[in-house]
Amino acid sequence: MRARPASGADRPLPGLPHANLYGMDRETLAGALAPLTSRPFHADQVYHWLYGRNATDIGAMTDLPAALRSALADRFRVAWPEIADVRLSRDGSKKYILKLEDGGEIEAVYIVYGSRVTLCLSSQIGCPLACRFCLTGTMGLVRNLAPGEITGQVSVLAHDNGLARNGYRVVLMGMGEPLNNYDAVLRAFRILVDEKGFGLAPRRVTLSTAGVVPGIERLGKETPRPRLAVSLGAARDALRDDLMPINRKYDVKTLMEACRGFPLAPRERVTFEYVLLDGLNDAPADARLLARLIRGVRAKVNLIPYNEAGVPDFRTPDQDRANRFREALLARGVPATIRWSKGRDIGAACGQLVRGPAGPSPAGMTA
Ligand code: SAH
Repeated sequence: MRARPASGADRPLPGLPHANLYGMDRETLAGALAPLTSRPFHADQVYHWLYGRNATDIGAMTDLPAALRSALADRFRVAWPEIADVRLSRDGSKKYILKLEDGGEIEAVYIVYGSRVTLCLSSQIGCPLACRFCLTGTMGLVRNLAPGEITGQVSVLAHDNGLARNGYRVVLMGMGEPLNNYDAVLRAFRILVDEKGFGLAPRRVTLSTAGVVPGIERLGKETPRPRLAVSLGAARDALRDDLMPINRKYDVKTLMEACRGFPLAPRERVTFEYVLLDGLNDAPADARLLARLIRGVRAKVNLIPYNEAGVPDFRTPDQDRANRFREALLARGVPATIRWSKGRDIGAACGQLVRGPAGPSPAGMTA
């Protein structure tokens, strides 16, 4: 293993004298510890304390020699994102507003479906893709998150909710386009699925993209890799161009070719998310088009009825209309579920996440 000098997010921030150990991957830790110890396994131990055992301070790393602990404590700190606010939904979901070291804020959501817990993570502050129905899209991109700011969301939410190791799923479906922050997202993913890290099975992590085709192709070659979800939103170019501007770069045909070429494990499926917008993309003819489009991809469809997000022009379809859409898909052999989003009352549902460098949330976002 070759040591790499600390860089980027690993450097001390102005006003903070110590570099943050949290967020360093194995190689970076090896580089950081090299001047302090001649034993490479010490870096592995620190790695395990940070990501496998949720240690928040160096003093707790009790299997390290005391001298090394104190040398580390002189030079480094362990800092997670800070909880700035938590909003509890009537359905049990919680929206966390997390403050990062540069004052930037992101949102992460704790979601419960029965006994199943899912943590929904952000990959960027804001998002550059500007999908018209999505509130995050109105912010533009502020910046990419560092790997430790992505895994940090898991540490904070798992700790705050007393979650057992392995006792949850992770979806990269919060703020941002994960495939536009590819390297940091994959580095975070590797820490999440590392035995000595968070120890999650790769299939328990899902990455959702609005359709960044080169990223999908690259992801298909990774081992291990997260599961793939693709936000479709429309099955034809004219409408998708309008709703999701990224379609003008990678159109529906190009996107579907990338999905068809995505190598799946036995029994694995690609998930297509399809936001249902009343009167715009939710007619039976749209369902037929969608079913035809998906033919040839082992897939399932998640229908997400539009969540009011403070964006004008769009309405939520009623339940009957959503059910008819689903049945039209099922009748054509496409597995489909309707996901009435959790956390709508606290602005934590799909498309409702918006934080920025600082400042309160926009009007209309909270109940
Ligand atoms: N950028 C990635 C990750 C975000 S996932 C992606 O687009 O896949 C967020 C999901 O919420 C996407 O499927 C998006 O289509 C959906 N969404 C956005 N705004 C929404 C809204 N107002 N109501 C329902 N779903 C919405």
